[in-house]
Amino acid sequence: MNTISTLNFEGFGELFPEITGLTQPFWDGLAQGEVRLQKCAACGTHQYPAESFCYACGAQAMSWVKVAGEGTVYSFIVVHQVYHKLFKAFMPYTVAIVQMDEGPRMLSAMLGLQKPIAIGDRVKPCIRVVDNERAFLTYVPVNQ
Ligand SMILES: [Zn+2]
Repeated sequence: MNTISTLNFEGFGELFPEITGLTQPFWDGLAQGEVRLQKCAACGTHQYPAESFCYACGAQAMSWVKVAGEGTVYSFIVVHQVYHKLFKAFMPYTVAIVQMDEGPRMLSAMLGLQKPIAIGDRVKPCIRVVDNERAFLTYVPVNQ
């Protein structure tokens, strides 16, 4: 059971990056409950962050696709310092680099963990809703 889902993410909108035409599909996907990555039509590589061309082959043939987004913990830190007031309710929290099964690595907060994670642990996306238009991607352990 994911106890963090009852928490309020009001105010987190101020932490969002500038959303550009290039990144809009990623954020739209999260708002619709989907994890989306760019996929190259020429070589099939998934990529993140978004770019107008493929990092693997250089083709300008990128489109957005829905993905499962699961993966493994590649690296992580546990944050004990309150760097921003909005994270105070989540202390301490984990910031992980997730090796997605689709290929890209995703930097992600892991909030409300029931027990410490370890490198190699299986994780899955947990989309956090801020308001009617915005949501952000976090990860949780597969077995939590
Ligand atoms: Zn490619």
